[in-house]
Parts: sequence; C-alpha cells; structure tokens
Amino acid sequence: MEASLTHYEVLGINPSATIEQIKQAYHSAVLKHHPDKAAGLGPPSDPSTDGQGQAASTDTFQLVQSAWEVLRDADRRAAYDSLLCLRELQTPMTYQDELDMGDMDAEDCDGGARLFTYPCRCGDVYALYEAELAGRSSMVVPCRSCSNHVLVRASVT
Ligand SMILES: [Zn+2]
Repeated sequence: MEASLTHYEVLGINPSATIEQIKQAYHSAVLKHHPDKAAGLGPPSDPSTDGQGQAASTDTFQLVQSAWEVLRDADRRAAYDSLLCLRELQTPMTYQDELDMGDMDAEDCDGGARLFTYPCRCGDVYALYEAELAGRSSMVVPCRSCSNHVLVRASVT
C-alpha cells in the first residue's frame, strides 16, 4: 500500500499554497469528484451494485472534503503542517547529498533574515532561510533550478 496522500496532494497544490489557491483547488476538485456529479446517471445507489468508478469518486470526494476542512483553517493547517514535518523526518526522502548548515554560505538579507546557500552541481544553489529550519533537526532543501535535493542538518551549538 502506498503511503496515503497528504491533504496538499489530494488537492494537487503546494504546501506553500495560499488560502486562495487552496480554495480554488478545492472548488475544482469538488466539481470533479462530487458524487452527485460523478455518478451522472440515475439516483445515488449502493456502491456495491454500482461501478468501481463511483465508489472511487466518493472516496476521493471525502479526501477532498477533509483536506479542505483542515487547510481552510489557519490553526488546523498549522497543526497539520507540523505533523507533515514529523512524517517527513520519518519517511526516507530522496536527496543527493547531506551537509551541515555550517557548510553553507550565509548571507544577511533585508529584514534581518539569514539566507543559507550551497552550490549545486547544476551551477545554481540550494537555498533556505534560517527560519525555515527553526525547531527542526534537518530539512530536505530543493535546488532552485534543477530537481536535486540536499539534506541540511541544523548545526545547533
Ligand atoms: Zn541544481
């Protein structure tokens, strides 16, 4: 069994999506998966006597619905996001390299944020803000240009 989809994956959006994007994705998913719409013909009927299609669609609709219930609410979304972080730490992620935050180049940005970068083979850089790593022991960071990822360990001193 494949790991279950995250609420973001169910809606086909980025974990960094804005509430507007979430709302849009939810509405189009509802249009696509609503049991009434998906069934099309005839009255709603017992899934066991009906095609697989309807049962699957009902399941998907419920996933969409519960994704929306969580993501529409800033507090619940934040709680869910931290759950996802835990899951990420437990799930082996594919990354090309590992490094410590101390290996990265730090630069100070406007507003006091610190940006850490590390050169990628493609010529661009892996980049993350110090704040993104706050409270985490490590984080997988994508390259800004290519599909490479790198695991950055927080170097807590
Ligand atoms: Zn790259």
